[in-house]
Amino acid sequence: MNATLSTPAAPRGEQRARAFDDGAAPGERADGGAGPIAKGGAPLLDLRGIRTGYGRIEALHGLDVAIHPGETVALVGANGAGKSTLLRVISGLQPLTAGTVTFDGDNLNRRKAADRVHRGIVQVPEGRQVFAGLSVEDNLMLGAFSRRRDKGVADDLEAMYQRFPILKEKRRLHAGNLSGGQQQMLAMGRALMAKPRLLLLDEPSMGLAPLIIEEIFGIITELKREGITIFVVEQNASEALAIADRGYVLETGDIVATGSGEALLNDESVKAAYLGG
Ligand code: ATP
Repeated sequence: MNATLSTPAAPRGEQRARAFDDGAAPGERADGGAGPIAKGGAPLLDLRGIRTGYGRIEALHGLDVAIHPGETVALVGANGAGKSTLLRVISGLQPLTAGTVTFDGDNLNRRKAADRVHRGIVQVPEGRQVFAGLSVEDNLMLGAFSRRRDKGVADDLEAMYQRFPILKEKRRLHAGNLSGGQQQMLAMGRALMAKPRLLLLDEPSMGLAPLIIEEIFGIITELKREGITIFVVEQNASEALAIADRGYVLETGDIVATGSGEALLNDESVKAAYLGG
């Protein structure tokens, strides 16, 4: 990454990411977070000064990230940059050493993972992690576990089959029999059954063939059009930034650039580092 994107002299965690001018309203963000606001109002998710690590090794050095209702935000960065760690922080699976996670105005720092799911923070994990020995339908129903008394679940299952007809066709099969792309659809369907207010996608393109990747990003674009708030984490930066309202570039635990998906896609140093020139 080009040094002009951050301030190398600043201590870790106090580096200021370069915010790309993308035609958004000029001036500082009202909430003080990094990056321009694509959609107004208070953020749905507001991460401030996030620090965490593994043992004595710090993996995230004081990040600020804000996601507004209805936005699709991409977090891109190389292998080991800390992308999955940040998602684990949001889901409540990774303890903080500093900072705050605020969702819909509530401080979630002391809230457990299950409580966060209940509030609508739902993650599609890296590598799908479907239950291979359970049927496709049982996998989908597990997504609705936190709302199992909700009478709308049967209708939602039918809606999921409309969205993913291949899952209806294969609903009685073990999930382990599905192809990688179908498993990704199942993992997304399972998350949608939980009625997410914030959908976290960890490397949805990982290990998939190019045509299937197109299909998966097509599905994410549909979800975006439906107004679901999405945070997508990807090594496949070009695909992710192309569908994102805004993006953040993460480099070894620091946000080094932020801006609209389009501005980041067109930036020379982002191109050189993450888009194959
Ligand atoms: P990838 O795309 O490979 O998953 P990433 O950007 O998601 O990469 P993380 O998995 O969040 O990166 O890793 C960030 C840093 O934390 C890396 O240096 C990694 O080696 C380290 N790390 C991640 N998980 C652990 C763990 N369980 N124990 C120790 N170190 C870890």
